[in-house]
Amino acid sequence: AVSFFWFRRDLRLEDNIGLFYALKSSNPVIPLFIFDEAILDSLPKDDARVAFIHESLAKINIQLNETGSSILVKKGKTPEVWKNLIQEFDVKEVFFNKDYEPFAIQRDEAICQLLESNESITYSFKDQVIFEEKEITKADGLPYTVYTPYKNKWLEKFNQLKPVREYETSELFSNFYKSDFSFPTLKQIGFEESAIKVKPHNLTQIAHYHETRDFPAVDSTSYLSPHLRFGTVSIRKLVNWAARKNAVFLSELIWREFFMQILFSFPKVMTQNFKSDYDGIQWRNNEEDFKRWCTGNTGYPMVDAGMRQLNETGYMHNRVRMVVASFLCKHLLIQWQWGEAYFAEKLLDYDLSANVGNWQWAAGTGCDAAPYFRVFNPDIQLKKFDEKGIYIRKWIPEFDLGYGQPMVDHAMARDRAIATYKAGILK
Ligand code: FAD
Repeated sequence: AVSFFWFRRDLRLEDNIGLFYALKSSNPVIPLFIFDEAILDSLPKDDARVAFIHESLAKINIQLNETGSSILVKKGKTPEVWKNLIQEFDVKEVFFNKDYEPFAIQRDEAICQLLESNESITYSFKDQVIFEEKEITKADGLPYTVYTPYKNKWLEKFNQLKPVREYETSELFSNFYKSDFSFPTLKQIGFEESAIKVKPHNLTQIAHYHETRDFPAVDSTSYLSPHLRFGTVSIRKLVNWAARKNAVFLSELIWREFFMQILFSFPKVMTQNFKSDYDGIQWRNNEEDFKRWCTGNTGYPMVDAGMRQLNETGYMHNRVRMVVASFLCKHLLIQWQWGEAYFAEKLLDYDLSANVGNWQWAAGTGCDAAPYFRVFNPDIQLKKFDEKGIYIRKWIPEFDLGYGQPMVDHAMARDRAIATYKAGILK
């Protein structure tokens, strides 16, 4: 008889709750990862995120090999893979950490049913967040839809627990199933190396985060986002550390959980406006304009630098993400879903909850969003946050040779956006 630990968005051996409890179970534990064809089939063959997952699994496998074990990597449709596994092994228990995206919730329900019909017991754990689902609610039990009171409640609860418990697994490694499963190459999974790579995270400048985080040329943010997305770092270790180092940085990690609980409580935000009274806005949705935005050819240096950074590296600084998103929705009057989809394709840190949450914030359609009449001026943003033009020159080498004409006049676009929103918002 064996237990399984099923890796998903938690690609690490250290401080991994589900793995900790799996290793404490009475059976040897087979660590498993499934490359799900339902997801992979829609991705380009050089998708950098698949390469990063593969690389993270390879690291886990090396650690496992030192204990006489190895990771079992499968590729296929998840239900089919599990059907085969319960034929092949006497599966007593399956442990995994929860994933709160609507698609994942459905998948996990189906797999749990399948396993339970085989009399395998399933256990799921909160690992991805400090507070999940309905743990932080208003006094009446309803979800918060405004960030600041959510954050205050989050901090109040966190301060009672501080530091949150970490789950060290290394002493339990002898409980892994002894095995020599062959580890597939990226090619065997049907993918290839990407020119784009996930950077290691960098916490050396976090003491000054509150002063430097808005300046894209300073490069002072943590680069944690892809690591949090795939769980190569533990949120508990990070939050315990951040609480001692920098309150503003901690509050960004709370934004992450705020948007996760919004998606969990209001799954319609994936595709629809959180504020349904904004459904009447008449978007222009011009395909040519969209192309110019995607390729970084709007004539606004801050917007173009951001889009080129995204296209070349799979990353964009947060301040610039806010500027390009506002520009698309307000200057070009293109609905946020188009921008959200483009970011989803390109971002290494793409996360459904953070992406829709922030896009809806920029469009004004989200909970606690920027008011519709606030239209960022991309040139003023540039002056404020990249005064010497260091960031824009990095991504627009031709900048000094004279830069193209803006594709829309700011004053005209601003007035047009406000008028369009005003006319479209249902009373
Ligand atoms: P840091 O500034 O070092 O922040 C640390 C961590 O806090 C981040 O890694 C992230 O987990 C969290 N965080 C910071 N800001 C936010 C925020 N506004 N919302 C939610 N979490 C936050 N972040 C994603 O992880 N995935 C996305 O798909 C995503 N899409 C975005 C789309 C738009 C239009 C905008 C404006 C922002 C988006 N963000 C997204 C949020 C933010 O831009 C990135 O998390 C951040 O730039 C990542 O870089 P970092 O790790 O160096 O950030």
